[in-house]
Amino acid sequence: MENNIRNIAILGSTGSIGRQTLDIIAEYPQRFKAHLLVANTSSELLIKQARRFVPRQVIIGEPTLYATVRDALADLPIEVLSGAAAIVQAVTDPEVDTVVTAMVGYSGLEPTIAAIGAGKRIALANKETLVVAGELINRLLQDSNTVLYPVDSEHGAFYQCLVGERHEDIEKLILTASGGPFRTTPIQELAGKRASDALKHPNWSMGAKITIDSATMMNKGFEMIEAKWLYGVSEDRIEIVVHPQSIVHSMVEFCDGSVKAQLGLPDMHLPIRYALGLPGNRLTTPSYKMSLSDYAHLTFEKPDTEKFPLLDTAYRATRAGGTMPCAMNAANEIAVAAFLRDAIGFNDIHRIIEETMGRMPNVLNPTYEDYVQCNNEARAYAMSLI
Ligand code: MG
Repeated sequence: MENNIRNIAILGSTGSIGRQTLDIIAEYPQRFKAHLLVANTSSELLIKQARRFVPRQVIIGEPTLYATVRDALADLPIEVLSGAAAIVQAVTDPEVDTVVTAMVGYSGLEPTIAAIGAGKRIALANKETLVVAGELINRLLQDSNTVLYPVDSEHGAFYQCLVGERHEDIEKLILTASGGPFRTTPIQELAGKRASDALKHPNWSMGAKITIDSATMMNKGFEMIEAKWLYGVSEDRIEIVVHPQSIVHSMVEFCDGSVKAQLGLPDMHLPIRYALGLPGNRLTTPSYKMSLSDYAHLTFEKPDTEKFPLLDTAYRATRAGGTMPCAMNAANEIAVAAFLRDAIGFNDIHRIIEETMGRMPNVLNPTYEDYVQCNNEARAYAMSLI
């Protein structure tokens, strides 16, 4: 019998998605094996994970932590490496089957491109990759013999709604949003909000960066752009709807007026389990399943674009195309980092992004080098605004 164990590489194993991916791997030892674990700076947790899962390779992004990790794992048959170049190299290892890209931000782009080049199956959790370079990634995917599966709950929902459907029958994608921690906050109070207020997300337990993106709703703008590239549906046919209970993970409306929705608990294990089971193989779980009677009131409302202006910013950036979404993302990364250390106010995030986008030239039909240059310049300019 053929060996059906899939070797998984997790880029960002110590983050929220990475930890939950390891939960799934532990749940199905006959299906998956952790082959490569990559973390940026969380060396202690990386060591713990490596001792438990004994992957072939471990990479710590931060070079000053290399010796600590190597020494802590010296008694195990694990190769320990360090640095960004090692990551790009490791994802192309012939033994790797699936690469889970769960790094934060722009840093996910280069290893994802390398994994596509090596023909790896990709479970994409790093949404910035498609926000920044969706045009380029789609071109690369067309020329490759690999597939990209979304790990996000919304994009997993679209995927499931679209199984068995014809692309030309799609009327629109309806992307649900929780509305984040400030959904009911009066607009005039937003200016005084600090990182500690924004980090209290009502439904989803996630990393700090994405939680701030959720508070500004930039996250939903990113997901709209991601959906456009994943499903080939233009931004004008992607509608954002606020659904505070986060039970309907997203919907698709078809040309005959029918709407399909995918429902589930707000638990990232679900989309990770679905993505790892693809193609076409749902993984059985004994964990708690949803009872609809616990959610008797599912509500839907239009997003407040005056309070959350970054939604319009995202539509404008993707309509402009080229490197404009890359500039938006770069400025957002700088602004969110500054907000997390209380260096700027909540409304400054929008201001910095808009000023940066206004300043950066838009390069159409960008190459990888164009993205790198745009990212560097936009980050430097955004930094000067803080
Ligand atoms: Mg999401």
